[in-house]
Parts: sequence; structure tokens; C-alpha cells
Amino acid sequence: MPIASINPYTGRVERRFRAFGWVQTERIIGQAHRAAVEWRTTTFTHRAGLMHRAANLLRERQDELARLMALEMGKPIVDGRAEAVKCALCCDYYADHAEEFLADDLIPTEAQRSFISHEPIGIVLAIMPWNFPLWQVVRFAAPALMAGNVGLLKHASNVPQCALALEQIFHDAGFPPAAFRTLLIENELIEKILEDDRVRAVTLTGSEGAGSAVAATAGRQIKKTVLELGGSDAFIVLADADLEVAAKTAAQARMINAGQSCIAAKRFIVEKPVLKEFIAKLKTHLLAFQTGDPLNETTQYGPLARPDLADELTKQVNDSVAQGAKVELHGGQSAPGTALFRPMILSNIKPTQRAYHEELFGPVALLLEAKDADHAVQLANDSRFGLGGSVWTKNVKRGEELARRVEAGAVFVNSMVKSSPEMPFGGVKKSGYGRELSYLGIREFVNQKSIWIA
Ligand code: NDP
Repeated sequence: MPIASINPYTGRVERRFRAFGWVQTERIIGQAHRAAVEWRTTTFTHRAGLMHRAANLLRERQDELARLMALEMGKPIVDGRAEAVKCALCCDYYADHAEEFLADDLIPTEAQRSFISHEPIGIVLAIMPWNFPLWQVVRFAAPALMAGNVGLLKHASNVPQCALALEQIFHDAGFPPAAFRTLLIENELIEKILEDDRVRAVTLTGSEGAGSAVAATAGRQIKKTVLELGGSDAFIVLADADLEVAAKTAAQARMINAGQSCIAAKRFIVEKPVLKEFIAKLKTHLLAFQTGDPLNETTQYGPLARPDLADELTKQVNDSVAQGAKVELHGGQSAPGTALFRPMILSNIKPTQRAYHEELFGPVALLLEAKDADHAVQLANDSRFGLGGSVWTKNVKRGEELARRVEAGAVFVNSMVKSSPEMPFGGVKKSGYGRELSYLGIREFVNQKSIWIA
């Protein structure tokens, strides 16, 4: 894909970029390596001061950042500001907690003293997607930099200006320029980067295909990976749930970022007695969402990030309907090659259909009928993915019990799935491995070194 900002709302090419070649990329790796040698010797207090400054810059520049996201990938301006502020919170969080999270863990043994120290590993490559162009990067960069590592960012080809704006923020905050660099490169160079011994690890958020390709290369080089891939999160509604609240939240959980979120609720698994009523309520809430120019303050969902993503989603829907899914709410694309996709509801989802097995990365709600709670969990777990999930019931104890049985990295009871700096984020099965955020996230890319003093 060419590296370019193409406004998905207007179709206009805003800016094109020339991709870096290997010579330039290798030079940056060299600079990052030298920066890593210095950066690992700095104190947590020093790093925290800079990270708080980065947080302040994210808050100060939220309008400009939100505008870039609107222009590059169609995120409504209001949501873009919220994303910038959430990134600032993440920077503040790791500035305040990194030292405590990476403190020595004393382990009683026969030694006089034995403990685990957490030491930086050097350069970490981050391959990131376009759906939350700031958040996906910051939730990697804030813990990585606080841990004493340095970061190289290979962002998605359609959000180069967001990538450069983030680089600028870390530089303006006072981080050594080579401690966080954006590489405007094509995917072909990734293998060469991972073959370079100075690059120690890689984290990728994106599709299964990209994750598996990058992890295979990293595996050949014996390099650690963290993968945060797709999801097809179950939203289980039991007959005793508060249906109004559940349906309203269901609509929000499906419509987040025009449906392009790995933790968006995608499969709505509803107990039979309340299925019809739930669909009716969900329809009302979905129809209330306003679309329009992402730069407009009242727009609640914009176009998908690229027309090809909308074309692919239409294909998944059409195939599933041909295979027996029932359209409860008509929406979708108005014409092939256009990025706007209006919300849809499909019911009667069965294992013979694409929609049952695949991730639908856009505003299409899939409705599955469950005979009872056990059947609901069985349906939820009959998926290649395992990122998030939610359970809706007035019986919180039962909700918790079911949450433990859902195969996913995170399950929420009576709430939609969200990410927050305090809690670990990541999946099981084809949703990936490793964790981001929380104290677990910062410990992914450190040398957990045993020190034994006899
Ligand atoms: P991709 O997985 O292709 O893109 C994510 C990142 O990986 C981008 O930086 C991309 O770069 C890079 N990438 C892609 N292929 C390779 C490769 N072979 N080697 C190295 N890096 C690679 O996502 P798409 O944009 O194609 O979206 C397709 C689907 O991916 C979505 O429909 C959704 O299912 C899933 N997805 C999941 C996300 C999540 O949050 N978990 C986020 C985005 C997408 P480049 O842009 O240059 O190709």
C-alpha cells in the first residue's frame, strides 16, 4: 500500500509520502541503538518528567490530533479528542507507576538474597494499525520508554501524519530524538529490520495474517513478540438482564469507531425469550446514530477507514445472507468503492455462514439465539477468537461465574469491554498472546533477570 493520507469521507488524497529505503532505515536503527545505550541509564524520575510533558502535549494538541485522525481514517472529531486525552492518561499512569511496576521482586530462597530485576532490552519495533492511530501506539510507547527501552514505530500506511505527530510529541517533550522514531516504510523492510540484532523484540496490533507473518519472522530470529489481533467478542444477554440498558450499551459497543475496534461487541448471544425484544431495541438505538463529515461536531460515526474495508465487509454480509443469515436492519454501503457503511443487524447466524466464524470489522451486529446460559457460553466459545466478551444479567454472582467460563482475555459483567491503563489487555486463541497495559504490559519487554547472592 502507498504511504498516503486519503480522506475516506471525501476520497481526496491529502498527502503522499515517499517510503524510507533500507539505507535510511538502517541509519535510524543505528541511532536508536546508540540512544538505547544511554537511555537505559536514566532514572525513573527523569523519564517520568518527560512522560508527563508528553501527556500535557497530547492534551494541548488534542484538536489538531483529532483533525488528523478525522482526515486520515474518518474518526469523528469528538472521539478523536477523547482518544488524545486517553493517551495522555496512559502517559501519566506509566510516569507515575513504572518504577513500582519494575521494582525488584524479592524471592525467598536458600541464597542470602535473591530477586528478579527488570531491565530494559533495547529497541522494540511496534507495528500498529489505523483504527486507534494514537492509542494503539501510546499504550506501547509509554510503558516501553518508561522501562528504559526505545521504540521504532511502523504505523499503518494510511495514517502517516498521525505517526509523525506522535513522534513530534515525544521529541517536543524532550525525549532523545532517537528514542522514539517513526519509520515510514513498506512492509517488505520488516523482515530486514527483524534480522538486525540490534532490534530485540516486536509488538504488533492488527490482523491475523499480519500477526502470523511477523511472528514467523521474529521466531526465526528468536525474538519475542506480543500480538494483539482480531476479535469477535460475544455480548451475552440473559433473560433476566436489564434489556433497555443492555440494548443501548450493545449499540454503543458495536458502533465504537464505526465498528472498527478489536474489542467491539460483534456477536450478540441472547436467550430466546428476550431475543425479539432485544433486536427491536437494538435497532432503535442503532438507527439513532448520526453519520456525517467526521470533522463535524455532531457526527457520531464516520466512514470506514478505507473503501476496500467497506467492500470486504459487504462481501462478508452478502455471503452470509446467501448462506441463510436474515437481515433485520438494512444498511451497509450505498455503492461499491465507497467507505460509508450504515449499521446493519443480521440474525439467524449459523455455523454454515462466514459471519459465524469471521471477524466483521464494521457496524454489523450478529444475533445468535441461545437456549439457556450454558448454551450462550458454548456459542461464545465456539470462535477462533478470544479477545473480550461481556455478560448481561441482574444476577451478578451468576454473571461472574459465566465470565470465568468465557474463553477471552477480558470479560465484563453488565458493561461493555473497554481498555484502561490499569488492567491487562490481550487475547487468547487467534486473538493473540502477551499483554499490554497494567503492570503485566510493562513487563513484556524487559529482561526479567534472576539475581542470586550466595
Ligand atoms: P493489517 O493487519 O494489514 O494492518 C495492521 C498493521 O500491520 C499495519 O501497520 C500494516 O501495515 C501491518 N502489516 C500488514 N501486513 C503485514 C505483513 N505481512 N508484515 C508486516 N506488517 C504488516 O490490517 P488491515 O488494515 O488490512 O485491516 C484488515 C483487518 O485487520 C481488519 O478488517 C481487522 O479484522 C483487522 N484489524 C484488527 C485491528 C485490531 O485492533 N486488532 C486493527 C486493524 C485491523 P500496512 O498498513 O503498511 O499494510
